[in-house]
This record gives sequence, C-alpha cells and structure tokens, in this order.
Amino acid sequence: MNQPDPSGSPPASDSASDSASDSASTSARPAAVEFRDVTKIYGRGTPREYVAISHVSFTIPDVADHGEISSFLGPSGCGKSTVLRLVAGLEPQHPPTSGTVTVLGRPVIGPGADRGMVFQDYTSFDNRTVLDNVAFGLECRGVSRREREAEGLEWIAKVGLDPRRDARKYPHELSGGMRQRVAIARTLILRPRVILMDEPFGALDPATRLDMQDMLISLWREVQATVLFVTHSVEEAVYLGDRVFVMGTTPGRIVDEVRLPSPTRNAREIQSEPWFHEQVNALHARIEQVEAAAKRSPNGASRQIQAG
Ligand code: ADP
Repeated sequence: MNQPDPSGSPPASDSASDSASDSASTSARPAAVEFRDVTKIYGRGTPREYVAISHVSFTIPDVADHGEISSFLGPSGCGKSTVLRLVAGLEPQHPPTSGTVTVLGRPVIGPGADRGMVFQDYTSFDNRTVLDNVAFGLECRGVSRREREAEGLEWIAKVGLDPRRDARKYPHELSGGMRQRVAIARTLILRPRVILMDEPFGALDPATRLDMQDMLISLWREVQATVLFVTHSVEEAVYLGDRVFVMGTTPGRIVDEVRLPSPTRNAREIQSEPWFHEQVNALHARIEQVEAAAKRSPNGASRQIQAG
C-alpha cells in the first residue's frame, strides 16, 4: 500500500496494480469482504425488473492490526447502497441474483454480529435515552445492566459526547451531529470486524462533517475494523479512504479502484495540501467521465472508462 509522505508532498497513488503485494502480505487471511461476479436484479421476472449492479467483483483484504477504509463513490443510483446492504445481508438486496459475497471468508447468509451498519438517517430509538440507545446491542446480548451502562458511558465519551450531560437525554434533544455520534457508538460498542457506513455524514454541515471524519479515523484506529463507506463527497472519500471504488451506472459496476494513503493528520490539515486537491480533481474528472458516458449511451459507461 502507498504510504503518506510526512512532508505533505503528493503520495503516489495508483489503481489496483499493487494488489499483488497486498495479497502477498495478507494471503494467509481470508479477505475482509469479497464480491465475486455479483449481480443484483430487483423485481426479477416482473415488469419492474431492474439490474442494479452487474458482475461486480472486488476484494478488500483483512489487513492485520490495521483494517482498511474503502470508500464507494459514484453517481446516484449506481448501486452503492446495494453493495453495502449485500455485505450487511439485508433484504431485499440480499441475496444477490448471482455471484457470491463473502465476509471474513464466509458466504453472507444474512445479518451477523461480525458486521455493523450506520445509516445517514438518524436511527436511534426515540423513546430511549442516549445511554440506552448506545447500550441497546449489549442488552440484546444479555449483558447485565451495570456492565452495559459502564461500557455505554465509555463509548459516549469516545464519540465526543459528555457522559454526564448527554447520557440521559433523548434523541430529539440532540443536534444531527450528536445523533450520528450516538449511532456510531451504538454500532462500535459491539466491536464488529466490518463496519458499513451509508452516507453517515451526508446530512451534516461542512464543519461538523470534518469533525466527524476525524472522530471516525481515531475510533477506527482503536477498533482496527474494516470500514466500507458510501459517500457522495469526493473530498470525504479521499480523506478517509485507503482505497476508493468508483462506480458507474447502467448497470451499476465498479469502473476504477484507486489506492490512497491512510490519513496521518486531521481532515482540515490534509485538505489544505496540494496532493489532496490533485487527487480530488482527478476523481471529480473520473466521475464526470462516467456520468457523461452514461448519458451518451445507456450501455457505454463501463466501456468508455475501461478504454480511458
Ligand atoms: P446508490 O446508493 O448508488 O444511489 P442504490 O443501490 O440505492 O444506488 O440503487 C441502485 C438502483 O437500484 C437505483 O436505480 C434504485 O432505484 C434501484 N433500487 C434500489 N433498491 C431497490 C429496490 N428495493 N427495488 C427496486 N429497485 C431498487
């Protein structure tokens, strides 16, 4: 994997060409997430039949003592959420129409404790306090009230909320950013090996969004999980991603995989560096190319990109 240069000069980034060295360092471990030739057709056999993703294949290695953050970027409707929910094992995306989805070497047969999901919409239970929301998963696992509350308070602090002030509040008493912190704490307290995030910061203002990105990076370092992160923001993808999958439409497919350095400084610092802007501009150009190709020919997007 390309390493960041502490001087702030542009890191080398390239496409999937260095996956050979990846597989050498991780060959003994099953991949964290693997798609093999996965197609999802909604409403199959009905007049509303729709091919959401077609022949999608990718491998996200399970890197020892690190985990990786992979971002999925692409125009609306290209199948980003479909990919994420197939990993989660959630219906109606699961099961795929054809192909295989494996997590940590096992085929996905439904939701499981090895995966946790954070959505864009605030998904807390309105009638539960922050603490009861955060500790909910532990409650389901039969953990005693004393233990789960102690752990819940720890996680409330870890996501940047104030355990004394915020733990007894209800979701409607929180800002959007605070509610997403609760959602993240509720997921991470269960220590999933794979964390699935579907535009989790999409509804937040730009400053809160940068704070949340930094918080995610510091928690990710602690839990060392593999993160799959869907976003519309190229900047967010470049800051967070060890790799970025660019998706195209008609039908949804992966058209490019770009490797990036893990963030070593906070979002505001990194986003002022020249290499960051170069990478963002290159990805914007790539996505515009995908969109233009899709407009010209419903079936031409992927051919266009592969040729380019
Ligand atoms: P993205 O996350 O990139 O916006 P989605 O994965 O949500 O894309 O959707 C991909 C395509 O599949 C879209 O055209 C969407 O309308 C369609 N789609 C998504 N979910 C369903 C569903 N449950 N039934 C029918 N079509 C769906």
